[in-house]
Amino acid sequence: ASGAMAHGVRSLFPVLEQHIHGTALAYLDNAATTQVPLPVLAAMRCFEEEDRANIHRGVHTLSQRATDAFERARTDLKRFVGAGPGHELVFTSGTTEALNLVANGLSAVQAGGAFLQPGDQIIVSGLEHHANLVPWQQAARRSGATLTVLLPDAQGHLHTKDLARLLTPRTRVFAVTACANATGETPPYEDLLALAAQAGALTVLDAAQAVGHAVPNLSALSCDYMAFSGHKMYGPMGTGALVGRAAALERLAPLRYGGDMVEWVSYSDAGFAALPSRLEGGTPNVAGAVAMAAAAAFIDQLGRNTIDAHVQALRAHAVAGLTAIDGVTVLAPEASASAIVSFVARDVHPHDIGTLLDEQGVAVRTGHHCAQPLLDHLKLGPTTRASFALYNTHHEVERLIAAVARALEVLR
Ligand code: PMP
Repeated sequence: ASGAMAHGVRSLFPVLEQHIHGTALAYLDNAATTQVPLPVLAAMRCFEEEDRANIHRGVHTLSQRATDAFERARTDLKRFVGAGPGHELVFTSGTTEALNLVANGLSAVQAGGAFLQPGDQIIVSGLEHHANLVPWQQAARRSGATLTVLLPDAQGHLHTKDLARLLTPRTRVFAVTACANATGETPPYEDLLALAAQAGALTVLDAAQAVGHAVPNLSALSCDYMAFSGHKMYGPMGTGALVGRAAALERLAPLRYGGDMVEWVSYSDAGFAALPSRLEGGTPNVAGAVAMAAAAAFIDQLGRNTIDAHVQALRAHAVAGLTAIDGVTVLAPEASASAIVSFVARDVHPHDIGTLLDEQGVAVRTGHHCAQPLLDHLKLGPTTRASFALYNTHHEVERLIAAVARALEVLR
């Protein structure tokens, strides 16, 4: 059944219908970015052709239509991630900007002082993408808070008992990913967030790698801030959101001061607008927001559980096939709700594997995947990473396994 879904929707993704070096493209780099289906492109185009105008300021009809489209996209995306009445969503250019908005917003000086004070503690998981680590390094440096890393064990797993040992009365922030992009590991983020919240910390979830299939349900989580990107859920690049508890978003200093986020301005001072506008200075990517909401609708039309089951089946297939190849070690082989399979091969550099796979039409990613501290901690270095989306097929997984086996024969 999971194979039938992929074949049914493939024709909606024109980019997949091409040959690379004479072979049909097998696009297995979906953790970096997913492809965009025709209905999402149509939603974007429809906005640009019929409703394009700047939002919130105009009295004219197009401006009102554009504002309505933007606010509808906000409402739709809130529903998509299970936001309740106490939640708000702020559009950003992606997960990176959303996480910077939180880290900067808690450390910047604003009326009433910065939230983070000298001697406070920030805890970040050791599985994080640089986007959920480097902003916290900067926030710690700026505020005088200390940054503590919740390290994974030698297998790359996080444990709640380890977090319990790190929490102190001064812990103000805890940040973790729903799925580690470098290894495919899926930490017990529900329990980790609940434990940190219980200890009085603000909690941050990086949902970039989950939102295309295993969409976290905000209302079921002890989560103050959740970040995600449109381009990893079949939407446009340069789109994303920070969604969270309105009371927690109220704590954030804006990242961008300027038009659209003010109530009044004098030469010497300004009063700021209410959420969500206060955190959305400047003209946003309105077509992008509309298309991102269309992507969420596309996911829900196919069924997020169906998509999740499909990508998990593809991953299980890939894990089994790759593990059977001599000298190949798959990371986080038993991870659940993951669409990522990351592996290393004895005596062979991932870059060489990636190049030989491309020659066979198979697109994968190689390197540190913006998670260098994690791969150093696990004593692994760069890896080869295949990652799956709803349009991938078991035939493509077979091609991946065969192509890796062939590449290793050539390279050894
Ligand atoms: N966090 C994770 C887990 C990611 O995989 C990525 C993208 N590779 C990001 C954050 C950053 O997302 P973006 O580049 O869309 O801002």
